Amino acid sequence: MEKIGIIRCEKNETTCPLVGCIKPIAGKAQAYKDYEDPQLMGVFTCRCPGDNVVELAGIMKKKGIEFIHFPTCLFSTKTEDGWASEPGGFCGKLPELMKAVHEATGLPVVAGTGHLPKGHIVEVVK
Ligand code: SF4
Repeated sequence: MEKIGIIRCEKNETTCPLVGCIKPIAGKAQAYKDYEDPQLMGVFTCRCPGDNVVELAGIMKKKGIEFIHFPTCLFSTKTEDGWASEPGGFCGKLPELMKAVHEATGLPVVAGTGHLPKGHIVEVVK
């Protein structure tokens, strides 16, 4: 079993209950497709400018989480034709956050959850 943690963005915390991020876990789809038996173990919220993210990730690690995902909406936007990488998503500093989390915890950090843009290659910092 792979223990998954999601660090979401504060920008949509009151409008999105993460259904699109959580639903594909059970079906091993989207950004979870390479796992054997992924289980969601916890969710935290990043707050701008992201200074809390390393601490949150550290708590997740202490609680046993093995893989940290950042939601797809951080780097992509819903368009008339589905989710697209252009013009980007909520967070302009996602690569920086991912690197900081990985360096602090040693855990693999994944950009993406569900509803990936067409043809998107999932990026993992590990
Ligand atoms: S730093 Fe990025 S992920 Fe964190 S709250 Fe701000 S925009 Fe959202």
